[in-house]
Parts: sequence; structure tokens; C-alpha cells
Amino acid sequence: MSKINIKNLRNRFPQIAFMDQNGESYLDSASTSLKMDIVINTLTEFYKTSVSNVHRGEHHLSLKATEQYEKARAVTADFIGAQEDEIIFTRNTTEGLNFLAESLSGFLKEGDEILITEMEHHSNFLPWQNLARRFNLKLQIAPVTEQGELDLPAFDKLLNSKTKILALTHISNVTGVVNPLDRIIPLARKTPAFIIVDSAQSVSCLPLNAQKMDCDFLVFSGHKIFAPSGIGALYGKKSLLEKLPPYQKGGGTIFKVTKTQTEWADSPAKFEAGTPFIEGALALAKVLSFLKAEVDFEEILKWEKELVSQAEDSLSDIEGISFIGPKNNRSNILSFVIEGLHSSDLAFILTKQKVALRAGHHCCMPLMQKMNLKSGTVRASFSVYNREEDIKALKTSLLKALSLLY
Ligand code: PLP
Repeated sequence: MSKINIKNLRNRFPQIAFMDQNGESYLDSASTSLKMDIVINTLTEFYKTSVSNVHRGEHHLSLKATEQYEKARAVTADFIGAQEDEIIFTRNTTEGLNFLAESLSGFLKEGDEILITEMEHHSNFLPWQNLARRFNLKLQIAPVTEQGELDLPAFDKLLNSKTKILALTHISNVTGVVNPLDRIIPLARKTPAFIIVDSAQSVSCLPLNAQKMDCDFLVFSGHKIFAPSGIGALYGKKSLLEKLPPYQKGGGTIFKVTKTQTEWADSPAKFEAGTPFIEGALALAKVLSFLKAEVDFEEILKWEKELVSQAEDSLSDIEGISFIGPKNNRSNILSFVIEGLHSSDLAFILTKQKVALRAGHHCCMPLMQKMNLKSGTVRASFSVYNREEDIKALKTSLLKALSLLY
């Protein structure tokens, strides 16, 4: 079946028309993406026709909502090459990572090691730093090279029989660096470590297959892939999920409760305490099944890389500019600094000219410290709906900002 031309996807994002009318450019998709029309339609349809809780009622509305919700789980599983009962719906990537840090704590003992990298987002840093403190574990942090890529030989040296957790990002949200998981995971498999992949950035631009990747857990957020905020997913190998205790306890997680004891339900119910974001799961599944059927994922990254490369060419004649991260490994992100200028000042002026992008430490303070980026970076991030016009707007606004600041 022929797939949709990536450039035509732009029409599927209603916010674009609104932005075009206002002369706005959105270059902040690494923070959150715009939402597809099918997301809005799914939410509206749900509120009009299907409102009910899931797994809690015998009436027809509840049964319908439960069926749709479980179908959404199957679609999400299919999207990342997993089985249906290996998907837990979460709020976001951060919740998935906190869930894992808490639930895996029972498998660790004093002196065990957790390995992360210097390029981790705080969401994949703080839960492990905290866990290490609480249980007297050693937090090992694999360094990045000067360019911001994972230093593989140094990483390999840190792996050993005490490494019980490896948690790393697939794509850096600062530099766009794609970590070579096909080399990293086989190295880590020589240790007893649980392998956790943070796919917050990769989910929207790389085809994911958790089974082929051979990770134990993988997490992502719906809001980075054109779906609502407040819905995300955690993949876990079935054999491992069966062994994990519930993260939060409450309605929906149990098989039987007495005054003194609780028998937990099987996964995934065991892990989804309380009423979930049902319509969010439905909207996420709508996006994922659309992308799977209609879009060639290789084309997404190709287009986004093309825009990054055009942006870099266009901005490179600006005096004092340097781009952060390796030129050949930026995926859909272009981070830069301009000598002598605070990145927040630049972003403030760009925002006034209706170019939306992010400046600062991007929740990666340890990476900023390592790369000596005192005021962080300015980050332009590109998605399927961006155009050459956005690059023009960025350049024009940047030149204006410089004329005001110098
Ligand atoms: N990990 C990475 C690499 C990210 O880029 C982000 C968000 O930008 C997160 C984790 C946290 O995602 P969320 O805020 O959706 O939980």
C-alpha cells in the first residue's frame, strides 16, 4: 500500500492553520508535539458517545469503554513490537521511569550498581540518583565524548557483574544524538542488568521494536507523538512484569482484598491503579494505528534531518554561533549557542517574534555541566509539520535578536 507523502501530513494538524494565520513558527516539538485531527475527533467522539469507566461495570457503556481501552493497548503494543499484556498505560515517560525505579528496588542489594549516561534527561536521572541514595547503591554515569556522543569504550568499562540496572535514552533531547542500541544492548546483556530504554524522543521518529531491540523495559509519552498529554506507555517483558510488585495500589489492581491481605491482579491490571486516562489511551492508539498504516517511518526522520541540515546551513554564517552535538548525528534537533549571549535572552526575543523554541538546560543539567554550557542552549526541534518557512522565520528572528542584543 502506498504511504502518505510526509509533507501532506501537515494538513492533519489543526493548530497549524491557526499558527499560519498568526504568523507563528513552532520549533519546539522535542518538548511537545502538535496534536493530530484524529486526536481531537477521538476525544470529542468519546465524550459524546462513550463516557464510562473501564473494568468496573457490567453495563453496556462500561463494556464498550473497556473493549476500546483494551484495543488501544493492543494497538500500542503492535506499534512497538510487543504483546498486548506487555503494555502498561502511564501518564508519561517520567511516570514510567519512576515506576521502574520503585518496582525494581526489591531486586537490588547494597553495593549493586545502576548505570546511566551523562546525556540523560532529569526524568531518567533523578529516580536512579534517589534510588541509589536510599539503598546504598552505586550510581555509575557513563561519560559522553566532547561532541556529546556516548563514549562507548568508557561505557563498556563500567559494565560489570554488579550492574543491575542500565537506563539510557534512545535519543538525546539536547543534541539529537541517537544512541546505537544495537551495539549497547548486546554489551549490557553480558551483565545481569535490567535494560531500560527511554524512548521519549525516539518514539516519533524512529521505528521501534522492543523485542528486536531486546530491552527489558521501554517508556514513552503520547504527547511527543501527536497524542494528548497525560497518556504514556511502559513496555515490560511479560516474564518480568509478572514478578514486579504494583507501583501504586488501589482500585483496579487487585484480585481479592481482605482486612489483612491483598491478592494482586495479573499484569497489566496490577499496575494501573485508579481510573486511567481512557480517552487519552484511545486517542494515542488512533495516532499509532494511523502512523503504522499510512506513514513510512524512515521518511519521517529523513524529512526532519533534512530540515535540521537546512537550518544549520542557513544559520552557520551568524557570527559566534556554534552548534552543539555531532553534525552527522542530530536527528530532528538543532541546539546552538551564540558567543557572549545568554540563551534565554535569545529565546525571549525569538518568542516575541513568534518563533517558539526552547532555551536553557532542557532538564539535562549534568550534560550542560559536562559540555560547559553555562547558559544552556537554544534548541530548535523539527517535526513532520515543519517547513522551510520555519527556518526562514528562525533566521530572520535570530538576526533581529542579535541586532537588539549587540
Ligand atoms: N526523557 C527524555 C529524553 C525527554 O526528552 C523527556 C521530555 O522532554 C522526558 C524523558 C520526560 O518526558 P515527559 O515529560 O513526557 O514525562
